[in-house]
Amino acid sequence: MISKDTIEKFREQPTPFYYYDLDVLRITCENLRKESEKYGYKVHYAVKANANPVILKIISSYGFGADCVSWNEIDRAINTGFKPSEIVFAGVGKSDREIESAIDANIFCFNCESIPEMEVIDAIAAKRNKTAVIALRINPYIDALTHKYITTGIEESKFGINIGDLDEVTAKLATLRNLRLIGIHFHVGSQITRMNVFSSLCSRINELQDWFEARNFKLDIINAGGGLGIDYDHPDTPVPFDDYSKLINDLITLRPGQTIHIEPGRALTGQCGSLISRVLYVKKGANKTFAIIDAGMTDLIRPALYQAYHKIENLTSSGALEHYDVVGPICESSDTFGKYIELPETSRGDLIAIRSAGAYGEAMASRYNLRDLPRSFFSDKLEP
Ligand SMILES: *Cc1c(COP(=O)(O)O)cnc(C)c1O
Repeated sequence: MISKDTIEKFREQPTPFYYYDLDVLRITCENLRKESEKYGYKVHYAVKANANPVILKIISSYGFGADCVSWNEIDRAINTGFKPSEIVFAGVGKSDREIESAIDANIFCFNCESIPEMEVIDAIAAKRNKTAVIALRINPYIDALTHKYITTGIEESKFGINIGDLDEVTAKLATLRNLRLIGIHFHVGSQITRMNVFSSLCSRINELQDWFEARNFKLDIINAGGGLGIDYDHPDTPVPFDDYSKLINDLITLRPGQTIHIEPGRALTGQCGSLISRVLYVKKGANKTFAIIDAGMTDLIRPALYQAYHKIENLTSSGALEHYDVVGPICESSDTFGKYIELPETSRGDLIAIRSAGAYGEAMASRYNLRDLPRSFFSDKLEP
């Protein structure tokens, strides 16, 4: 819920901007911390979901580590309070320079996705007389049952090492003297709302644990990745960390000394952010009415890119309900936030909130059409 007082403060602000309710973020972090302490698993926040420094400082203050996919993310994470020793570096295409910087920064672990990548990390570590700690990202062949662009763990996906190649990968690993294998890593996709996807992942993890054990590999870390979805229909609903935590801890069979790691991104930041915009024009179409707002796909690309649903609210009208296509100003037909959306009678100047926009919103903003990047406001500074 965005409070009446906050909406009054919005009236003075130029739009569009991201509004972050930091209490929602803190409660979400606290809930996850409680679960992680209860079960003894370790959390690395996936920085790519939202790399706003204010958000990162709050998340790091809960003692979580960071899951980064570029050197710039690692650098930002270190500058916002994450310890290098709690940063993992993931991604299918790490550049040599990124690997060099990450080794020099003494990060915790590289999540490796291919033999050629392992060879490059080994060579760079050797030059520095260091040992790089790695986990193998394995493609578990599990369909996340989510949008195809955010499914990452099926056979045709570019991510991870194929299970059939594990013999070759582990044979190669034995020859790479500056790498140390610490664990296995999985990430099946994003916005996963069906818990049976995670159950299938846990079964696959158990099979692979047997595979590694049979070959005398000692793994310390079982990293189940991120992907836990949020309820876009109900932006004020807490994220079900309890069900998820119980499930993975019940279903993954750990060996002595092993720790589960998880990497939530969206689940931590999604519900704390809203994109706030103003209605520029209400325009009659041939058979519908458009509410044209001053935020576009450059501010929030998820609807255009993934056909994603976000709840849209008119914060300043209490008129009779009507239907609108809520669209942005960008010269692309996909620049549509919602079709046939029920809103109170909407007119020029009304404030519109696009909810659950705290993850993959601001982080994916672009300057297409040479638009300005969206600014961000925080509940802590807005409240008196
Ligand atoms: C994107 C990503 C995550 C986070 O995904 P969410 O769906 O935001 O939880 C975690 N791990 C890896 C490797 C990723 O690429």
